[in-house]
Formats: sequence, structure tokens, C-alpha cells
Amino acid sequence: MDEKRSQKGQILYLVIPCYNEQEVLPETSDRLYRKMKELTRQGLIAEESRIMFVNDGSKDRTWEMIEKLHEKDPVYQGVLLSRNRGHQNALLAGLMTAKDHADMVISLDADLQDDIDAIDRFVEKYYEGCEIVYGVRSARHTDTFFKRFTAEGFYRLVNLMGGEIVFNHADYRLMSRRALEELAKYQEVNLFLRGIVPMIGFQTGVVTYERHERFAGESKYPLKKMLGLAVDGITSLSIKPIRFIVFLGMLIFVCSFAMLAYSLIQHFLGNTSIGWTSLIVSIWAIGGLQLLAIGVIGEYIGKIYLETKGRPRFIIEKVLR
Ligand code: UDP
Ligand code: MG
Repeated sequence: MDEKRSQKGQILYLVIPCYNEQEVLPETSDRLYRKMKELTRQGLIAEESRIMFVNDGSKDRTWEMIEKLHEKDPVYQGVLLSRNRGHQNALLAGLMTAKDHADMVISLDADLQDDIDAIDRFVEKYYEGCEIVYGVRSARHTDTFFKRFTAEGFYRLVNLMGGEIVFNHADYRLMSRRALEELAKYQEVNLFLRGIVPMIGFQTGVVTYERHERFAGESKYPLKKMLGLAVDGITSLSIKPIRFIVFLGMLIFVCSFAMLAYSLIQHFLGNTSIGWTSLIVSIWAIGGLQLLAIGVIGEYIGKIYLETKGRPRFIIEKVLR
């Protein structure tokens, strides 16, 4: 742990992406304000700490409200995106803006579904030396069965497909300035934060919290966006789906030998009509070979794909000298 970390009262930025959130903003800004004041009074964070709203191309009065808040009290800051770019990009824009001014940044949703009383514990973990602290949901009582089923299936699927994501952790997390500087080196356009952040490494911690219901407005994540996030999450992280095709191709190709033996036996036993044997064997053999060939080509494209991302190959945590 570095020297500086032992001193409390560092600068905290809260980053909140907002898309059509006029119903929740007054309440959210109020509650966060009180939270920040409380933490400042306890000496846990510095006076210069800020609440940063990122307006992700809202079509309602969200930005005007953010401007008003900023005029009223400079503790509120705003970042205006030129158009709607989606939650992940809005979040990244906020994180990258905040990192130059903050010692630690916590990202959370505008609807305060993430329990803001967990912020104290995030900050505590930061002072214990964590560079990244993940907020993990303890239970999903407030979700409908459908949301719970799809969401948990999503975490399992991404992990199966080669992404390493923290189970039941969304985007409620703390990152130190150092971790953010490393995040900035991931230059990829298709960025799935939940998958990238664990790649950074360093000392990490977990804070569990209970997720509430949205107190106003409605979800900006309909099923369509959720599916999009799932597909992007998987395909932007790894090329494992391609590898599945390779294995499938091999499997079917091996099966074709068994089918060859079976068909020949049937042929010589006289159980078949003319042409069946050759037809069946070629279907299996050619099908397997084709899948295999596609998979092999896919492997090379996958390599090109990962190269174009230009991810950092390593991140040094410490040098002893
Ligand atoms: N959000 C955003 N851009 C979008 C969609 C959502 O910035 O295109 C923000 C939204 O304002 C909220 C957060 O992402 O702060 C999470 O969205 P929401 O609460 O609607 O998702 P849910 O909790 O239903 O999964
Ligand atoms: Mg929500």
C-alpha cells in the first residue's frame, strides 16, 4: 500500500450515467448530496469531492436539471454527451473525465437501485489498499422472476464463453485513480466494462449490498438492450465461441467415421437402398469438414480481432528497486 493511501480524506467522485432520468434526478441528487456531506463530515473524503452526472443524450429535461443543480452548488458536475451512446459508453466517458481530478471514483445508477449506504464500505476498502472494489448484489428479492432468471443466466453464459466477470456484480464499483489510468489503456471501441475491469488486476475487494427497486421512472434496459449487452459482452471479450465451432467440426468429422462404418455394415447386410450409403457418409464428412474449416478460419480472424484491440499486454503493480 502506498504512503498516501493511509491518509483519509481523499477526493471521491461519484459518476452517474443518466438517460431520460428526470423523474429520479431530484431525489437522487438530494440523497447523494447528503451522503457526500456525511462522508466529508466524518473526514473520510475531501471537500473537493464531486457528484458527476453524465447525460447520455436524454430526450427529456435531464440535462437542464443537471445544469440547474450545478448552478446551485458546484458539488454537482455534468458531462453532456453529443447523443445517446448507451450506458457503458456514458459510464466510460464519466470515468475518464473524473479520473484526472479524483483519487477514487464510484460508478452508480441514477435510480439508486444500488444501495448508497454501501458507499462507506467502498471507501473503507479503498483505504485498506484496494484499487478496485466490486459491489455484489446479495439477493435479487426485488427482481421479477424473469429478470432474475435472464440476468443470472447472463453471468453464467459470459463466464462459459470465456469472459471473467464477477457474479452478480453490475456497474456499481469503486476504482482508484491508478486503476482508471490502466483502464484508459484499453483502447477498444466495443468496451464491456464488467469484463475489462477484472482484467486490470491489482488488489480488489468486494462489498455486498441489497438492491432496491427503482423508486421512480422505468427501466432503460428493456429485453432488447439486455440481449444486445449480452452479445456484445461475449463477443467483445473473447473468441471462445469460434473455438466451439472448431470443436463441433472435429466432433462431427469423427462421427462421420462411425457413420462410415455403420453405413458400410448396413450396405453389406443389404438393408439399404442404392445410393444411401454414399449419401449419408458424404453428408457427415463434408458437414464436419466444413465446420472445421470455418472454425480454423475463425481462429485466425479471432487473432486479428484481438490484435486490433491493442490491449495492454501487462500491467505492472509494483517494482522493487
Ligand atoms: N442508461 C444510460 N444510457 C442508456 C440506458 C441507460 O446512461 O442508453 C443509464 C440509466 O440512466 C441508469 C443506468 O444506465 O442510470 C441503468 O439503467 P436502468 O436503471 O434503466 O437499468 P436496470 O436497472 O433496469 O437494469
Ligand atoms: Mg435501474
